[in-house]
Amino acid sequence: MVDVIVVGGGIIGLTAAMRLRERGAEVTVWAPSGPEQTVSAVAAAVWYPTRTLFEPRVLAWAAATYDQFRRHAFARVPGVLVRETRNLERDGAAGEPWWAPAARGVRYLPIDPPWTREIRFQAPLVEMGTYLPWLRERLVAAGARVVRRRVDRLEEALVEAPVVVNATGLAAGTLCGDPDVFPVRGQIVRVANPGIIVSVRDQGDPGTYVHPRSRDVVLGGTWQANNWNTAPDPATRDAILERCVALVPELAGAPIVGEEAGLRPARRGGPRVEAEKWPAGTVVHAYGHGGAGMTLCWGTADEVASLVCDESLTVR
Ligand SMILES: Cc1cc2nc3c(=O)[nH]c(=O)nc-3n(C[C@H](O)[C@H](O)[C@H](O)COP(=O)(O)OP(=O)(O)OC[C@H]3O[C@@H](n4cnc5c(N)ncnc54)[C@H](O)[C@@H]3O)c2cc1C
Repeated sequence: MVDVIVVGGGIIGLTAAMRLRERGAEVTVWAPSGPEQTVSAVAAAVWYPTRTLFEPRVLAWAAATYDQFRRHAFARVPGVLVRETRNLERDGAAGEPWWAPAARGVRYLPIDPPWTREIRFQAPLVEMGTYLPWLRERLVAAGARVVRRRVDRLEEALVEAPVVVNATGLAAGTLCGDPDVFPVRGQIVRVANPGIIVSVRDQGDPGTYVHPRSRDVVLGGTWQANNWNTAPDPATRDAILERCVALVPELAGAPIVGEEAGLRPARRGGPRVEAEKWPAGTVVHAYGHGGAGMTLCWGTADEVASLVCDESLTVR
């Protein structure tokens, strides 16, 4: 018997497992494959709450995550950078965006049409292909177990632990019967970095983003609700390249080094982070982060750890 089983080994499951371990819980992570096989590994993984609605606790998660990744960057954790970011708005908004109190270096600049405002700020960026394996190794070094296991029902985990964290992303819709979960397909193209160090996000529809990493640049984006296709589409790739080169002309001719598509685990009503009593035990849900799983992960993990610890006190 362990204290808690975290089902799901993407960014939400691994960060939750780490916070639980830090609080002294006996933690096992169950996932059918390594973190490189998750949606989290496809993410551009830049801190920004894309299409996420304001709620005080979402702002708190965003702020906690921002601070954690910033500490990681200063500690030179592999795969974590902080980039100057230009957000180019088109909607004529004038007030402070809800997420601004969570970020550093936020300032507002005039800009020529078609944009209506430029917001500059510093944003953590995570190279998931490097960071997720690092996080898993840290977790194991801290005493957690990571087991290759797929469940058909969360009750399989409740047989072995009194508390189970449901961090299964899009699969949560089926595993806990939540009709509000749906996929939002995203496709990215990666090109060799010609020396760019500033991130740019154009708020048009579809949005366009250019996120320089250490060796390559992640180009996007797409937001296709209820599209289950995980194969990159050549026409979408060409359209992304055209928009990104128009936005950042230095990208012209940069060789393509990769392309991926993934399904964001979106949820009507926003992420679900709460404890629920099941007949066989307690399930702490942590899913539905849509286009902001990296942006909200460490704050979500803090809340999951608190929910589990409150629950464990009740159980014991
Ligand atoms: C193109 C693209 C760009 C993105 N860019 C950003 C960005 O810049 N910033 C940002 O914050 N977010 C971004 N996102 C969103 C982000 O990727 C997601 O919000 C995040 O990855 C969700 O993490 P997760 O751990 O909930 O899900 P996942 O990474 O999908 O992990 C789910 C885990 O559950 C496991 N699982 C599933 N079913 C079962 C089962 N039956 N039994 C056991 N385990 C199971 C899976 O194997 C996996 O380990 C982007 C997404 C895409 C697709």
